Amino acid sequence: MYHDVLPEKEVFFDITPQELEAEFRKIQEQGLTPVSMDELVMHLKTGIPLPEKPVLLSFDDGYEGHYLYVYPLLRQFQYPAVFGIYTDKVGKRMGRSSLTWEQLQEMASDPLVTIASHTLSHSDLTQLFGDKLDQELVESKRILETELGVPIRYFVYPEGKFDERVTARVEAAGYQAALIMRNAEGKYAGESEDLMTIERFGMSELEGAIAQANGGLALPVWGDRLVLNAPIELNSITVDDIPLVMVQGGRPVTIHAKSRYRVHEIIAKTNLVAAVDGGFFSLEFLDSNTVIGPVLSQSTQQFVPGKKGENPLLAGRPLVLISPQQVRFVPFDPERHNALAGIQRELGSVTDAFVAAAWLVKDSQPQTAASFGNLYGFDYERDRAFWGIDQQGRPVVGITHAQVDSVRLGQLLSQSGLREAVMLDSGASTDLAFEGRSLGVFEARPVPHVVGLVAPQPGLGCK
Ligand SMILES: [Zn+2]
Repeated sequence: MYHDVLPEKEVFFDITPQELEAEFRKIQEQGLTPVSMDELVMHLKTGIPLPEKPVLLSFDDGYEGHYLYVYPLLRQFQYPAVFGIYTDKVGKRMGRSSLTWEQLQEMASDPLVTIASHTLSHSDLTQLFGDKLDQELVESKRILETELGVPIRYFVYPEGKFDERVTARVEAAGYQAALIMRNAEGKYAGESEDLMTIERFGMSELEGAIAQANGGLALPVWGDRLVLNAPIELNSITVDDIPLVMVQGGRPVTIHAKSRYRVHEIIAKTNLVAAVDGGFFSLEFLDSNTVIGPVLSQSTQQFVPGKKGENPLLAGRPLVLISPQQVRFVPFDPERHNALAGIQRELGSVTDAFVAAAWLVKDSQPQTAASFGNLYGFDYERDRAFWGIDQQGRPVVGITHAQVDSVRLGQLLSQSGLREAVMLDSGASTDLAFEGRSLGVFEARPVPHVVGLVAPQPGLGCK
């Protein structure tokens, strides 16, 4: 899935013509065969084999760059592709330049090109009902067929938003198949639930998808099993002689305080049941709330960018992203992630974000010493704080009641059932508050940031 292609990138999902050409060359060098939407759908319907290492190229939203740069490259490489067009935008000069009907007619008449409907207005279809919804599906199909003189058999959901009600209407409108997108990780088309929800990978996932298709490392496949309505429980366990105190359940939130306090003081007048000290912070001033790297919290609803000089040092560390429905840990990219728009691209309705120290457990695997790179003191034995997601999908905050190095901690947490865990500020800051009191073994250093858990509200069902 690609979006705009233009010489000067404006947002991170943009790609230049040179970069697109490089991707096409990669596809060629790796021996992949681009297939058409017809071939993919035929394969999914009947099992008729596709060529070896098939890939479908899709371009959404009908930008002028699709005619100026993409279409000539498709002809040069003889690659088929599908374009999702929303008709209200065609020929309009609002915002970014759009394709004109003339350009679309030329493209649509080429057997390499499949045109799919992407609605009339690019609205969130899950918010539309009755005639309003049907019009988006039926009218866009009719307009495209009239203007282009080709049958429109496929559909692309705007912003990837769909539900069972919407997919049923898409099918009823006469579409044979539809493409989705996910904010989190993509899946292979062959893993799709049905023809009305065909899975895609975002363009940045191309390399990983190729590696996995060729028997390389698995892509992370968690996230849809996040459980945010479990009761909150305190668990003190000892694994391999190391005592761990963990609180699991509820829904995760962060607080970026105005100054530095003990963790139990920060959550005293909130609805948080438990919290652990959060991101690293500047020790410069006793009363500073400066966190290292960018930070966004529900408490302030304010995005505070990280310092330009510090950010490059944090590249690749886990950027924690929390929304009402999702939790993601993605490698921090100083170029993309130091602005609210950049983190919103990673997780649409993000409410909380900060940069953690390192992955301890990733895809249920403890991390090796090499993975910590040059993180200062990762191999020291210290009291340590962490948070993550357990195998049941519940959020977990916790601390050790003994001094351990990071590699060992990852092994302990993996054994105790965490599938994802990242390290928080540790050593003298290590502190866990539960129901109003500190469960730390010593009086911890005051901190400006915490990761906590809010109890599920009875009666409010979470998906
Ligand atoms: Zn779109």
